Amino acid sequence: MVEDEVVKIVYKHVEKQFPMDCSTCNHHFASLKEYLEYTSPTGKPISYDAERGDWKPLKPFGTFSLRTCQCGTTLSLSSHGMRLATLWRLLQWLRKESSSRKINMREVMDDIRKKINDQALRQKEAEPNSQINRTE
Ligand SMILES: [Zn+2]
Repeated sequence: MVEDEVVKIVYKHVEKQFPMDCSTCNHHFASLKEYLEYTSPTGKPISYDAERGDWKPLKPFGTFSLRTCQCGTTLSLSSHGMRLATLWRLLQWLRKESSSRKINMREVMDDIRKKINDQALRQKEAEPNSQINRTE
């Protein structure tokens, strides 16, 4: 598995968690882009299974990426709902990548998260006429 593949798989999984609402202020996030624009990052992603050295968890504790809503609530995106076989492949990749690059696993996941966030933020809003209607 190569990094691009990892980014693609995780991106798809994360997108499925939207739309989402903040549990405290009920702010509605229609997409990952809106979520990223309204919240601020909190630490690096963490895989509780990887931290425990469990690379094939049957009942995964999960991998979490946290952000803080403008109301102060901590929100998370997680690996919950991902197929076990897929999760295991990602954990194996994470393990290898972290040892070959000699960096912490959380660092590796942070790189992946940055790539996903960049892609999400580059997505244009669906406004096909905005260019045509512009008057100058
Ligand atoms: Zn909130």
